[in-house]
Amino acid sequence: MSTLGQSNLQTSHIQWTDYTWNPWLGCVRMSAGCDFCYMHRMMQGQNSSVVTKNTGGFNKPFGIQGSQKIFTCSMSDFFIDQADAWRLDAWKIIKSTPQHTYLILTKRVGRIKNHLPPDWGIHGYPNVILGTSIEDQSVINRMVTLSKLKTVDSKFKLFLSIEPLLGPVDLIANKTLEDAFKLMDWVIVGGESGDAPIGTPGYTFYYRPCDLAWIDKIIADCKLQNIPFFLKQVGNHLANKYQLKDKKGGDISEWDPRYQIRMWP
Ligand code: SF4
Repeated sequence: MSTLGQSNLQTSHIQWTDYTWNPWLGCVRMSAGCDFCYMHRMMQGQNSSVVTKNTGGFNKPFGIQGSQKIFTCSMSDFFIDQADAWRLDAWKIIKSTPQHTYLILTKRVGRIKNHLPPDWGIHGYPNVILGTSIEDQSVINRMVTLSKLKTVDSKFKLFLSIEPLLGPVDLIANKTLEDAFKLMDWVIVGGESGDAPIGTPGYTFYYRPCDLAWIDKIIADCKLQNIPFFLKQVGNHLANKYQLKDKKGGDISEWDPRYQIRMWP
């Protein structure tokens, strides 16, 4: 495995992307991983469960210089039904800016197939990487659903984001999972960030515990299948436990060398 540094051009606080683009804002929670979603925290005071078109930011990719990694919908879910009316226009922007790579992450993985652009075909768009997000083994079937988007001839890439990591994950627990996992081109892991330990009075957005053994197992599974792995952050629970200065994963030299893995697909 090789370790790559961050891009100098990074303007997002998210370690695995250069930019974020939010053609729409707002989302509805899907599973435990959403409980303390930062989008709801950042939109406090507004009804963050109602999705609105981001009119001012819709065309943002046209103004981004160079060739960048763009995390699409960091403040929503690209495939949420409330955005159906605007998604085709977003796909047109993606297609007409082939210099950028779009990282599209969703928990609504069952909606992807019917909401791809008409010319997606079997190869997809070369500048799009589709991903799904899980937090523990209870939602692992999202990976299986994602993997089914590919046929043997498909060229586009898929990724799995395991953040916030809330419990043990076995990506090769059975043959179905193993076959799906083999089709992943990238795995990102992160612990939960939040304002206070779960249950602390006076807070709304918590962080839950993460365990290094859970991270070790995912690293081992990725090594076994030769899938690039990226540890974004260990989360506030472990950052506090190990008294890390940078709790957001900005200084990976604070981590034990075996966790200093930041690979790209
Ligand atoms: S799907 Fe993503 S954006 Fe939507 S509530 Fe869950 S974590 Fe937040």
